[in-house]
Amino acid sequence: MSTGRLLVVSAPSGTGKTSIVKPVLGRLTNLAFSISHTTRQSRPGEEDGRDYHFVSMEKFEAKRLQNDFLEWARVHDNNYGTSRKAVQKQLAAGVDVILDIDVQGAMQLKAAASLPASYIFIAPPSMAELERRLKGRQTENAASLHTRLTNAAGELAQAGQYDYQIINDDLEMAIQTFEAIVIAIRAASGRDMRGEALTWPI
Ligand code: ADP
Ligand code: 5GP
Repeated sequence: MSTGRLLVVSAPSGTGKTSIVKPVLGRLTNLAFSISHTTRQSRPGEEDGRDYHFVSMEKFEAKRLQNDFLEWARVHDNNYGTSRKAVQKQLAAGVDVILDIDVQGAMQLKAAASLPASYIFIAPPSMAELERRLKGRQTENAASLHTRLTNAAGELAQAGQYDYQIINDDLEMAIQTFEAIVIAIRAASGRDMRGEALTWPI
């Protein structure tokens, strides 16, 4: 068994990252989603321990000081962090781990280069469409919507730092592209599409 790889996925909020990643998690084996810790309030329909670990600022700070986070960042006025232990456990079990994290966190990981990782950026087809999607989702108040749209331009400017870029115009095409990228990353690191090590010679 070979160890897994981090699949770092970033996109401006509302682009459709969740809509793309979820179906691929259901289609490929040896693939998991890293559940981040956040100080933001849960949205209707979100579940603690499934979508995020929702924690107080005090708990987040305690974990941060204990070096529990592989990376962390303040995004849209809240703190978000990736659990180091949970990720290491999955990688050791040969599972690829999707990190849905912002550009700051992704660049921290890239600079540290401490774990094998590939970087995937998802962009919306336009800023107008991003605004439509965020409004259509009906999860943000006016202030939060404004912050997310303002931050989007800065995040899009960093797309070139990533190994792969996807534009989420047609959702099915974006899902297929993301799945193909994961499979290609596996093929480039001696594994088949199921994430199992290739045995050679046959
Ligand atoms: P993110 O996880 O990036 O914040 P979501 O997956 O929650 O974004 O998607 C934001 C909204 O846009 C949702 O209402 C979703 O149904 C919609 N959406 C996602 N992809 C597309 C697409 N290709 N075309 C139209 N709407 C989309
Ligand atoms: P949302 O509040 O919409 O769920 O997420 C807001 C932003 O925070 C998204 O860009 C998401 O990728 C990012 N994010 C979620 N978890 C983490 C994390 O653990 N670390 C970092 N750096 N960003 C995160």
